[in-house]
Amino acid sequence: MILLKSIPKVDKFISQEVFKGMAIPLITTISKKVLQNLRENILNKEIDEINEVELIKKVKNEYERITKPSLQKVINATGVIVHTNLGRSLINENAFNKAKDVATSYNNLEYDLQKGKRGERYAHISKIICQTLGCEDVLIVNNNASAVFLILNTFAKNKEAVVSRGELVEIGGSFRVPDVMSNSGAILKEIGTTNKTHLRDYENAINENTAMLMKVHKSNYSIEGFTSEVDFEEIVDVAKQNNVIDYYDMGSGHLIDLPYGLDESEPSVSNIMKYNPSLLSFSGDKLLGSVQAGIIVGKKELISKLKKNQLLRMLRVDKITLALLEENIKSILLGKIDDIPTLKMLFTSTKELEENANILKVEIDNICKCEIIHTKTVIGGGTTPNRKIPTVALALKIKDYKPNKIEKLLRANNIVGRIEDEKYLLDFRTIQINDIKKIENCIKELVNGSSNE
Ligand SMILES: *Cc1c(COP(=O)(O)O)cnc(C)c1O
Repeated sequence: MILLKSIPKVDKFISQEVFKGMAIPLITTISKKVLQNLRENILNKEIDEINEVELIKKVKNEYERITKPSLQKVINATGVIVHTNLGRSLINENAFNKAKDVATSYNNLEYDLQKGKRGERYAHISKIICQTLGCEDVLIVNNNASAVFLILNTFAKNKEAVVSRGELVEIGGSFRVPDVMSNSGAILKEIGTTNKTHLRDYENAINENTAMLMKVHKSNYSIEGFTSEVDFEEIVDVAKQNNVIDYYDMGSGHLIDLPYGLDESEPSVSNIMKYNPSLLSFSGDKLLGSVQAGIIVGKKELISKLKKNQLLRMLRVDKITLALLEENIKSILLGKIDDIPTLKMLFTSTKELEENANILKVEIDNICKCEIIHTKTVIGGGTTPNRKIPTVALALKIKDYKPNKIEKLLRANNIVGRIEDEKYLLDFRTIQINDIKKIENCIKELVNGSSNE
């Protein structure tokens, strides 16, 4: 086995000029693995010569694969505004810069600057949220799933939480209402049927071990035909009469009235607050348009019990989250809807979308076939299930490629579009103005094989 003797020694191999400037420990681990493989291949008689150039290439490729940033910017051309797979809501750049100021220096996260002593991390945001929503108090946790868990664990552990069978949903694969309930220690008391639940079902379910009446937003499904569900307003009333807590997991709570008549089926948090509920919770990065967080609002006395639960220490949010949320809520309070990308996209008129689509169309019209089409899209993120909103897209044709080939080629350039009626679409509901040039260059490159920067 003369070949075995010619396997380069690791120390010598990694000291070569080509690896200069690279992280030695990483290069060493990779090289050891590559050389070990080589040894096995020789022993198995799979190779009969050692190609050092090939070995170096293998090590360098693996090094690049590991060190390349995995989380990357993507252009969302799907038209789905709150796209759960593409990072949900975009954060406004100015809000991000304010958060950066706070996060890159010491700050008063848990310090009361007036009194000169320990303060409360949630105090920063409570004033502005209570002002905006008219609630008594607020608590922010890691996400809405944590909010649900914390609330059930605090108030319904070993007690019954009453939920309609029509609302025992699974959201995003890993959030199943019945499972979250049992993990939190709450006893699920199912009432009604899949399609119909009546007020009397809630009334009849209440006994001495009932802790709360819970309503869950159906989020990603809707039922049609003979259906009935009980309005939260009535649930609040029954809960009050029976001295139990009412709680609404709103999923994607939003703070302003939605366009396209979506408000009829999807009332805002402020509208729900009018019923004087015990507790509500919703996500920070769905229609609220901010950062990942779970926002719990409601009665002061109940929120203070949540704050005493040891679990909160594990679910609490960081200064960056609080800073970003504060900016976002302020924008809503001041009516600056355009400062919240999610809402801005939702409110853009189809006329403006068409103008934006035209910016791209005129640039590529002479090199590939494309047409502006008016179609529909969904908001996403478990909001307004099955309700579509109008949108404008550019149907793109490149050479004689099939739509799924175009989809693949653009996706290789981090542009994610969608296929509808055998057409590849770039949906302008979610394309950011600043990204249009990038899409143009990518298409030109695909058509001509060269970029027009
Ligand atoms: C999305 C959703 C959740 C989970 O919220 P996250 O912020 O993703 O943790 C919980 N309940 C409902 C009804 C939802 O729609």
